[in-house]
Amino acid sequence: MTDRKHGKCVCGNVEYSYSGEPINTAFCYCTDCQIHTGSDKYFGVWAPKENLRIDKGEPTVFTRLGDSGEPTHHFFCKDCGVTLYVEATVVNMVSIAATTLDDSENLVPAMAIYTASAPKWAILPEGIPHFEKLPPGVG
Ligand SMILES: [Zn+2]
Ligand SMILES: [Zn+2]
Repeated sequence: MTDRKHGKCVCGNVEYSYSGEPINTAFCYCTDCQIHTGSDKYFGVWAPKENLRIDKGEPTVFTRLGDSGEPTHHFFCKDCGVTLYVEATVVNMVSIAATTLDDSENLVPAMAIYTASAPKWAILPEGIPHFEKLPPGVG
């Protein structure tokens, strides 16, 4: 099981892991992510939902309607409040909060999405594709 990548919340009460390679790594500049993170973006590591496993504890779920009108489930630790991942039911995928992964040091974003809603003070990365919303074929 050495190919699993592990992550956890700040207090350590919830731990998870996922298998395989990420589908995508994206900086998301949507309004919800800004509010969620208190910053200009959320760094998401996209993986098929079935590749994710909770190894310790149980995250609390907050459900809201996503951009597509379909529900998105935000999984967070009720003790420290850290969001671990967001599940987009419409594509059966999870967007893991990159910063909660043990090996986040080595991750690089492959694209920037929802740049149309980025705040004026956002720093958009250079050298990777930018999409005003989602890239074609996603969502
Ligand atoms: Zn926690
Ligand atoms: Zn977002």
